[in-house]
Amino acid sequence: MMDSRETTGITGTAITGDILLNVRHLSVDYQADAGDVHAVTDVSFALRRGEILGLAGESGSGKSTLAYALARLLRPPAVVTAGQVLYSPGVERQAARTSVHGGRRGRADGLDNAPLDILRLTPAQLRAFRWNDLAIVFQSAMNALNPVMTIGAQIVDVLAAHRPELSRGQRYDRAAELVRLVGIAPDRLISYPHELSGGMRQRATIAIALALSPDIIIMDEPTTALDVVVQHEILTEILRLRAELRFAVIFITHDLSLLLELADTIAIMYAGRIVEYGARRELAGQPRHPYSYGLLHSFPNLRGPRRTVLGIPGAPPDLRDVPPGCSFHPRCPFAFAPCSTTLPLLRPATTQTSAEEHQQVACHLYDPAFAPAPPAEELLAAGYAALVRE
Ligand code: SF4
Repeated sequence: MMDSRETTGITGTAITGDILLNVRHLSVDYQADAGDVHAVTDVSFALRRGEILGLAGESGSGKSTLAYALARLLRPPAVVTAGQVLYSPGVERQAARTSVHGGRRGRADGLDNAPLDILRLTPAQLRAFRWNDLAIVFQSAMNALNPVMTIGAQIVDVLAAHRPELSRGQRYDRAAELVRLVGIAPDRLISYPHELSGGMRQRATIAIALALSPDIIIMDEPTTALDVVVQHEILTEILRLRAELRFAVIFITHDLSLLLELADTIAIMYAGRIVEYGARRELAGQPRHPYSYGLLHSFPNLRGPRRTVLGIPGAPPDLRDVPPGCSFHPRCPFAFAPCSTTLPLLRPATTQTSAEEHQQVACHLYDPAFAPAPPAEELLAAGYAALVRE
């Protein structure tokens, strides 16, 4: 049995809680006559209790497919072709869950405290896992909410389906408690989604996600459609709720600047793979992968010193025909001989001398077998600036 503090793949984060989710070598394809699209390839990471992990990358980098695979929400032609997603609820939660539900949820493997392999859950186990243990906040609150039901009725519906032991009155009390928690007055429980502002609707979807006190919440671009003021309010709310309720979040966005405000750890995805992973502070201070550098310099720095906005020339590859070697090499200003032939694997960015250093990078510039020394940040800057001038 896996120790709940064991890590696989990416090791070490700025967060030290127990590991809730251990993703091992996960791959997802979209199968098509014109050729399989390799949307997620060999992704591994660990998510700890209370951690906010940000997934960033351009559109088509695989971040949403990865998140939906974790929740088993993918539909054909998407197929998980390899890997495991192991969920460890922790002894306390396991015991509470067994007493509340009389053990009705069962285990995929029959072992009480062994991690659940989400990819092997039966349909009944999966229904219990979703909402109870893992919930999702979708990008468009208007599409996620039922337009012909009041907010209150939608929350009560979730509670009725998953907490049948609660009386009708208790469900309404819980619904009121949940909306209050996300900053909505309980008298809005009788409102329909179209009667609420965009920010209120998104708060309502967060309230529904919190209904059963899940361990993990996946948030898929939850603030993309909101103006910056409301966006800031929602992010502040998420941080407050996380501190209060200790759930973990996988936050998906194409906007790395949001993650610099919110996340504890950040994984940068490119062409279906994680190319850099690290604590927010380390990654913001010194991005190592040339793609991360480009992403970070694709928007102005609102808080720190002024920096030049560079962007990333070119476009992401066609995932049916990913370039050999490093898939970023056609766009990379630093590509050298091994880049077009040899796949770079995620590895520590430096010789780690401190337990504080967790940054990992998939780039030959940091592999002593190919490069005698990692490049200085000024070199990354000069390379990008030259590319943009061309
Ligand atoms: Fe650039 Fe080569 Fe590093 Fe890929 S492996 S990011 S092409 S230097």
